[in-house]
Amino acid sequence: MRTDTGQVFKLEDYRPSDYLIPRTELSFRLSPDATEVKAVLTIERRDGVATTAPLVLDGDGLLLKKLEIDGTPLAQSTYTVTPDRLEIVHPPEAKRFTLTIETEVAPVHNEALMGLYLSNGVYCTQCEAEGFRRITYFLDRPDILSVYTVRIEAPKAEAPLLLSNGNPLERGEMAGGWHYTVWHDPFPKPSYLFALVAGSLGILSDRFVTRSGREVELGIYVEHGKEKLADYAMDALKRSMKWDEDVFGCEYDLDVFNIVAVSDFNMGAMENKGLNIFNDKYVLADRETATDADFANIEAIIAHEYFHNWTGNRITCRDWFQLCLKEGLTVFRDHEFSADQRSRPVKRIAEVRTLRAHQFPEDQGPLAHPVRPRRYREINNFYTATVYEKGSEVVRMIRTVLGPEAFRAGMDLYLKRHDGEAATIEDFLKAFEDASGRDLSQFALWYHQAGTPNLTVSSAYNAAAREFTIEIEQSVPPTPSESRKRLMHIPLAFGLVGADGRDMAYESVEGAMVDDGVIHVRKRRHSIRFSGIAERPALSLNRGFSAPITLSVEQKTEDRIFLSGHDSDPVARWQAFNTLLTEALIAASRQIRGGKRPVFSDRLSALAGQIACDDALEQAYRALALALPGEADIAREIGNDIDPDAIFAAREALAKRIAEENGPSLRDLYERLRDNGEFSPDAAGAGRRALRNALLDYLALLTDGASLAADHFRLAANMTDCAAALTVLAHRHSGTPQATGALAAFEARYANDPLVMDKWFLVQASVPGAQTVETVRGLTEHRGFSMSNPNRVRALVGTFANANQTGFHRADGEGYRFFGEMVLEAERRNPQLAARLATAMRSWRSLETGRRDKARATLLAISGTEGLSTDLRDIVERMLA
Ligand SMILES: [Zn+2]
Repeated sequence: MRTDTGQVFKLEDYRPSDYLIPRTELSFRLSPDATEVKAVLTIERRDGVATTAPLVLDGDGLLLKKLEIDGTPLAQSTYTVTPDRLEIVHPPEAKRFTLTIETEVAPVHNEALMGLYLSNGVYCTQCEAEGFRRITYFLDRPDILSVYTVRIEAPKAEAPLLLSNGNPLERGEMAGGWHYTVWHDPFPKPSYLFALVAGSLGILSDRFVTRSGREVELGIYVEHGKEKLADYAMDALKRSMKWDEDVFGCEYDLDVFNIVAVSDFNMGAMENKGLNIFNDKYVLADRETATDADFANIEAIIAHEYFHNWTGNRITCRDWFQLCLKEGLTVFRDHEFSADQRSRPVKRIAEVRTLRAHQFPEDQGPLAHPVRPRRYREINNFYTATVYEKGSEVVRMIRTVLGPEAFRAGMDLYLKRHDGEAATIEDFLKAFEDASGRDLSQFALWYHQAGTPNLTVSSAYNAAAREFTIEIEQSVPPTPSESRKRLMHIPLAFGLVGADGRDMAYESVEGAMVDDGVIHVRKRRHSIRFSGIAERPALSLNRGFSAPITLSVEQKTEDRIFLSGHDSDPVARWQAFNTLLTEALIAASRQIRGGKRPVFSDRLSALAGQIACDDALEQAYRALALALPGEADIAREIGNDIDPDAIFAAREALAKRIAEENGPSLRDLYERLRDNGEFSPDAAGAGRRALRNALLDYLALLTDGASLAADHFRLAANMTDCAAALTVLAHRHSGTPQATGALAAFEARYANDPLVMDKWFLVQASVPGAQTVETVRGLTEHRGFSMSNPNRVRALVGTFANANQTGFHRADGEGYRFFGEMVLEAERRNPQLAARLATAMRSWRSLETGRRDKARATLLAISGTEGLSTDLRDIVERMLA
């Protein structure tokens, strides 16, 4: 484990490496506690670099066994070595030479899951961001592109399967029951894309023919006996390959494409060239074990990693500050893919909810950073919602600003111009500027400036002049180390909705550039006047969520209700209703804190009933609209002095009110949506289940709710319905025989399926209320739980901290104390996991004073612990700063 050196890396300090490594030959002799790694590196001094320049290679906890240059062992006086660094003080004068390094690593002891490790007896690697240096000394930075040849040797009985990047070149038998395979990847790549897998796994095979006729062998490797569970992932892979050809003109470039599912994995998946390694959670699925959300995630993540082949692998990042270059862009691409495969509006609303739930709090708290950061202490801590999700929003805005054709031309130019290179955000933007002739310099602030911009908007109608005026003022709140902000270019899609629900035309507009339904906000204030407006319109703003901003709009409740039913843009329509709900919940939580009973308008619950039963709307849309804003969403809107108990009570009261007002019609709809026994994970089937389960959540609040949910659980013919019923029982009827019985039945049925048991842990960790911390503490002793498996830790501890506002924020601070212990426990094995868990406390300053003090005490206790890893120290100190 690397402990903190205090070193801060800065974007402005970037300079190219003095040396390059055009060729890398690796040989592995695999053994759990002593794997021998031999690296033969062709080193080339960059033109213009002095021959006296030392060659400094990165390491991390390495043991050097042998060192040679051009076949001759190095004298001890010519190099210095530590586990974390190898410096050749006097490299040869020749421009090119061969450096041979032998190291030894112990995969079985690698619990950090970075570098080469063992997961359930399978050797696998994770090298992004800086894991390769845990395998051998190297210039472990993304701008060092090298052609790799990899030889793997292992006992055949233990590891019949030997995989690496690229195409298989050679295989053969060796003495003593060993065998070997050689892989060659012709595409130069950075070390973070290196991968190796060895072990005994089952395979699901298929093939894909690219549009130019290349035959590609596809393989998905899983635990023996689970091959059928990879069917959906394989189908998603083939659809992704076709889609990327059709939509972005990107074709696959090797003869094989392999995916391996492993059970111990820090992230979702990794896009290693030709050999993607996946958390098995994002590969394995069938109706019995996976929810519709799991199916959708698998489809999206398979696509995401595959799409990296071009955006990330063929064109990679110059340095880690450019992480969004590959991630934001590839998230945008996988969002578009899912939108094309499913319902575009529903997908978009889900994206908006995710962005608000994960990225907005980051932007509004101590961990705020620009999409392209300028400094970091630990790059592992920058795999954030800002880099990924906001990074994707920025790419989406480029398309909105330029239009789809110029956007595609810019993408084509970027892919052509930088193929085989390590590029920057400047290179990316330049491609769009050159392709479109447009100036994106103000727009580029979206990459460079942290914080969520806010637009304050008011409007007025002048009937006599037939004019409608919109006043817009932009501001960007200060964020850590950025107190003064520059003005942004915000593409704000809008509509003027007439009484008939149609968008009104206007004769002319002045005060801002308005183009194709988009207001380009570029100044601090705009006063925008539309003429030729016959009646007062309802103003629909940020349609399609065209910009990742917050809006403070002075708008009549009448207008919001009208837009909830009539806006032609489904995202804005959902937003209008969601705003009504949020406003009502904020008011109710204030009433509850003031000791009063919450009051809700009849019209709100009537509107919820109308939306639920409106068969003209997509079922999945209705399910999303009926989902009340989450407790954390409401807290974020309130902003400070948060009392999670009051918010919870307000939300429960509104849900109950909606259920009581609409009981018979919701129940009738619930019955009509009953399963006909057939199952398809497609959007239509998932939408029907989502709506029916949303209705169950309300109906469970009425008399006999527990028995209705228990029947739902008993009759469930798929995991979506089963998990939904279990959640409703555990949350709404905790402690009843129905809830206890369902939890026991679920556990008995799935005890031997760790991925499904994660749902069981998750449901219990999210049960609202003060008692849950004790339950969760008890579950850490459960035989199905393990602190060394990230999926288990996230399901139990992560869920408790991130999705249980009343449990985690228990007024006496016990939730924080327990969490602090768990973070330190995780830290001893896996610093990355611990650091990510710890971010659950990022909004601690917005709590009411009692809880705030207790949260701070926990953070101080963590930061005062000796020998903390860089990962955890960085996060905790930034949160306390
Ligand atoms: Zn990615």
